Amino acid sequence: MTFSTDFTFAQSLDKDDPLAHFRSKFHIPQKNGQDVIYLCGNSLGLQPKSTRTYVEQELDDWASLGVEGHFHGERPWVSYHQLSKKGLSELLGVSTSEVVTMGSLTENLHLLLNAFYKPVSGKNKILIEKMAFPSDHYAVSSQLQMHGFGRNHLIELQPDQDYNFSTSHIVDTIDHLKDELSLILLPGIQYFTGQSFDIQTITAAAHEAGVVVGFDLAHAIGNVPLKLHDHQVDFATWCSYKYLNSGPGGISGIFVHEKHLQNDQQLKGWWGHHPESRFKMDNQWTPSEGIDAWQLSNPNILSAAANLASLEIMQEAGILNLRAKSVKLTGYLEFLLNTSELREKIQIITPGNPDERGAQLSLMVANANPELIKNLSEKGVVLDYREPKVVRVAPVPLYNTFSDVWNFVNILTQTLKTS
Ligand SMILES: *Cc1c(COP(=O)(O)O)cnc(C)c1O
Repeated sequence: MTFSTDFTFAQSLDKDDPLAHFRSKFHIPQKNGQDVIYLCGNSLGLQPKSTRTYVEQELDDWASLGVEGHFHGERPWVSYHQLSKKGLSELLGVSTSEVVTMGSLTENLHLLLNAFYKPVSGKNKILIEKMAFPSDHYAVSSQLQMHGFGRNHLIELQPDQDYNFSTSHIVDTIDHLKDELSLILLPGIQYFTGQSFDIQTITAAAHEAGVVVGFDLAHAIGNVPLKLHDHQVDFATWCSYKYLNSGPGGISGIFVHEKHLQNDQQLKGWWGHHPESRFKMDNQWTPSEGIDAWQLSNPNILSAAANLASLEIMQEAGILNLRAKSVKLTGYLEFLLNTSELREKIQIITPGNPDERGAQLSLMVANANPELIKNLSEKGVVLDYREPKVVRVAPVPLYNTFSDVWNFVNILTQTLKTS
């Protein structure tokens, strides 16, 4: 598609956008009586207006029914985790018996690593990417430590293209290390650069090398379509408060491929026990069906309610439609940055190929500092800053407009002129 730098062009894209009406389903934060230009949905997605209704339903049931809400509420809590399965299975490309909402991302990483990291003599190292998110780094380090291994068992994949990793380089590295590697943990989309990883090719290479592979989908779920089951991914987890708009600290979830649902290192909790005999409390393990046996605790219902509200919107919009708009929206942002006078002052470190990125562009700005983010915030632009010198910009197809993108580039240009 050929873009133009005129503001009227942005307006015409908005007019022709089949998903434009989804914006009105969200609360847009205000600054000086106006909608802010919110480009931070990769960090915390905006609140759907329906979230309040879903959460209030559970508050009402709790108020009027007390403990009986477990069985007699509008949406009984005892089976609440079933309600999100359909929506999640569509986003992840998995069967409903392979996915369940539970816990938090970092906790789930520990849980899954505990189940899937099975070092044997020689083949006992774990590969993650350089500049991995701290939680992923710490989770892997603690697992290694529990098995009596140290720092040299954690291998960091080095980027071969500035900040990014070509698929052929990843595949070659896996092949090169196949006699030492036990497990690989990679992001679906890298939080810092916005690079999208080729999950299918990487998983195939890992399995060829006899290595288990898991993905952290914090920045991928709700952002790009996924096919975890067909791509044979062993396990995955995510958070729901970024592109899934389920609120700060929102409930996470896990995927375990059906071929691994029986796992002798699976950690257990009472909520994984089959509901028919759970309340016998006899400590005779009878697992729930499918992945439900991996649940530990009874889930946070208020958070699960917010998750449900958001999944309903995702399903209505459709992840393929969202992705089609997202490719256009982010492509337009890239076009405007490259044709403006900003070109000299910033470097886009996210891959230029739309297949290798999601919604986010990461801009390395020569004089960037937290002050820049404050200046932009005063002008009604919300985004974030990560050391060193990177501003992450994420136009989200559910609620951002092409006009948002145009206005952002205009404001950034003015701001960098005067700073
Ligand atoms: C956002 C994010 C996290 C956050 O972990 P929580 O347990 O939800 O606090 C972890 N890993 C990655 C890669 C992330 O992007």
